[in-house]
Order: sequence, then structure tokens, then C-alpha cells
Amino acid sequence: MARRKKIYEGKAKILYEGPEPGTIVQYFKDDATAFNAEKKDVIDGKGVLNNRLSEFFMNGLAQIGVPTHFIRRLNMREQLVRSCEIVPLEVIVRNYAAGTMSKRLGIAEGTQLPRPIVEYCYKDDSLGDPLVTEEHIAAFGWASQQDMEDILSLALRVNDFLSGVMLAVGIRLVDFKIEIGRVYDGDYQRLIIADEISPDSCRLWDIETGQKLDKDVFRRDLGSLTDAYSEVARRLGVLPQSNVAKPTLIN
Ligand code: 5GP
Repeated sequence: MARRKKIYEGKAKILYEGPEPGTIVQYFKDDATAFNAEKKDVIDGKGVLNNRLSEFFMNGLAQIGVPTHFIRRLNMREQLVRSCEIVPLEVIVRNYAAGTMSKRLGIAEGTQLPRPIVEYCYKDDSLGDPLVTEEHIAAFGWASQQDMEDILSLALRVNDFLSGVMLAVGIRLVDFKIEIGRVYDGDYQRLIIADEISPDSCRLWDIETGQKLDKDVFRRDLGSLTDAYSEVARRLGVLPQSNVAKPTLIN
């Protein structure tokens, strides 16, 4: 079989040319990185879990009419996605203070925010993805005014969807990051949700215990990352069958 052409290798994923024009195969690696790749490890099974979880969230978003790049899952580690031009912004939505917002503004982690707050960071690893304002975005032409209105509306719809899905399984959506893709349909352009939605890019806390079920487990050395992600997958009913513990028969 001919070897596929690699388009890009990132910290957690590899992109290959897809089988049809306009498609890409997104491969989920087991690599975990934090603090702009200063901390690194390989976590067995992380890629498989994130592939499944991102499929689950993207399919759910499509069902409520939020456009995404997801086409279908191909196997345990790969999904077919629509090729798009990535807007060079990380769009962060926060419901509770945590992480860099807590550090920057001195607000205790876990404080509920008066309303969801959307932040934008310029996607550039060499600069550590700096926080930027809409002024920077407009002046440097990273996105138009219309794009920004669409991005805000997409981000808030994703927030409502994810918050509800998580709440239903006893998990608080503290914050998350999404990336936005630009696709062209003839003369028209549309914005869609791209990249991935997984515990790598969200903060997820158990509502009862406050236990962290996201990448902070790795960032802050809080235990097993796969146990945390498996717990999220188990509660959402998306754990691959082979990973589901067999019931013990007692007679
Ligand atoms: P913070 O700004 O507090 O570090 O992150 C806010 C939210 O966005 C967290 O859920 C975090 O996981 C996510 N996030 C921010 N930057 C990145 C990034 O470069 N990669 C990933 N996967 N998630 C990010």
C-alpha cells in the first residue's frame, strides 16, 4: 500500500493527506505535552480516548447544527476531517476561573464567573500563544469583524452544548479551547469547529468531589491521565468496548 503523505505533525496529532480532495486524516498520538512542550511524556491510550471523545463531541455539535470539520472516525486512532484553513487564534471560553486567568487576575481557581468569558490567543508556539485583543485581530487581519461575530457565536454555542452534556454526567465544564477553520463553498466562506475537543483542551472537574478529569492531571502530576480520560469516556458512554471492565459474576 502506498505510504500516505504527512502534511503536518503537531504535539498531539499528525495530519495526513486524505483519500479524497478536501479531506485530511487526523491521527491522535499518545504524546502529552504541557507548558509549551517543556513537559513531555507518552501516555498509553491517550490518543485512542481523545479520538473517541472528539468524535462524540463533534457529532453532538453537528446534531444541534454547529458545523465542524469532522466527517467520520476511521479507526481507533484516526478520523477523516474536512480540510480547512485554520484561523490563527485559540478561542478560549471560561465559565469558572482557573489556569492562566486565575494567575493573571488573582481570582481563586473554581470561582464562578458572572458570565462565560471568551478570550483569544494568537496561535504561535514560539511566542507561547499570547493573549490578544480584538484590536490586534482586526489590525493584523487574522479575522474580519464578521468572522469575529461568527466565532463568538460558535464559541458560545459550543459552551452551552458541552456544559449541558458534561453536567448530565456530573462534570463541571470549567473552560475549554477550540480552534476555528475556514472553508470555502464556491464564492462563500464559512467558519467551522476544527482541531479536536477532548480532555486535552478542556478543564473538567467532578461536580461532587472537584476531582480533575483533564490535562491538568498531567500538567500538575495529579495521577493517571488515562484513568481520568477513561472516566470521562465511561460516563459519556463512549469508551471502546475492549476497555470496558467485564462485570464480575457473583453467585
Ligand atoms: P489556560 O489559559 O488557563 O492555560 O487554558 C484555558 C483552557 O484552554 C484550558 O482548558 C486549556 O486546556 C485550554 N488550552 C489553552 N491553550 C491550549 C493549548 O495550547 N492546547 C490545548 N490542548 N489546550 C489549551
